Amino acid sequence: MEMAHRNKGAHNQDSEELKQDQGASMLDRITQLVNETLALEKRIDAPFLSKEQVLLAIDRGRSEGGSVGRHWVLDPIDGTRGFVRGDQYAVALGLLDQGEVVVGVLGCPNLPTNLIGPEALVSPTESSIGCLFAARKGAGTTVKSIDGSIQPQKISVRNLEDPSLANFCESYESAHSMQNVTAEIAKILGVVSPPLRIDSQAKYGAMARGDAAIYLRFPHPGYREKIWDHAAGCIIIKEAGGLVLDAAGNPLDFSKGRYLDIASGIISTNPQLMPALLAAVQAALQKEHHHGERVHL
Ligand code: AMP
Ligand code: MG
Repeated sequence: MEMAHRNKGAHNQDSEELKQDQGASMLDRITQLVNETLALEKRIDAPFLSKEQVLLAIDRGRSEGGSVGRHWVLDPIDGTRGFVRGDQYAVALGLLDQGEVVVGVLGCPNLPTNLIGPEALVSPTESSIGCLFAARKGAGTTVKSIDGSIQPQKISVRNLEDPSLANFCESYESAHSMQNVTAEIAKILGVVSPPLRIDSQAKYGAMARGDAAIYLRFPHPGYREKIWDHAAGCIIIKEAGGLVLDAAGNPLDFSKGRYLDIASGIISTNPQLMPALLAAVQAALQKEHHHGERVHL
């Protein structure tokens, strides 16, 4: 099995530099860390890896994804800006099988275990911090606390149908999603709550447990979405009963390699609300087009 992940620059994601003389001490250190971690597993069959085996394992991270075979899709720190700010970020892992996401795990170390949306009932002091979401095709979505104080529990998206009672989440960073467009969509739909702005795929996790009824993501024109920014989150929403579509109403296609080929945006909500949301999206995009506000790259 191979792994597709982000930051696949020229040399930084394969073992080439570690094979050079100047990489020798770093390779020693990595090999030591790998074996220390394996030893922590306390499994009798935990293998001891040689430097050569560590190099081979690193080079399995060269996968480009695609529609054939199985590929792990990893974003080690999704939402780097949130991480740096001390806000939300996520460790996102997905498994692609023949181009379809079949497993998703989302670690959100800064996400409170109690709800953070308008439905929040428990005071923040009673909450622990750190959530781990997991979904497997056909088996639903669960969340547990990272500290182990809360066992895995099944979660589902909010099932409300009345948009005036709905709220939406979106990127904290306005550079990642056009907040004027999302505000227009919300207005057309009749959503009155202010947006819940959080970084990273923590949005998908939060929505899967009911913090928001809708997720809107409209990158500025020219941006290409990567599979590792959506694979885990997408199955976590789907297995919690929600839909994740592009702005034209098509399901996300993870079989095309590192990029998702989508026209203008990603939207998510429950199946009852989706038709109205899609109509609002189309109306908002048309209006924006007429006003010629979009920056054409
Ligand atoms: P979020 O925190 O939801 O805004 O998304 C974080 C992710 O947005 C990161 O993993 C980046 O890969 C991705 N990203 C980076 N630049 C952009 C951009 N210009 N537009 C949209 N997404 C971006
Ligand atoms: Mg990312």
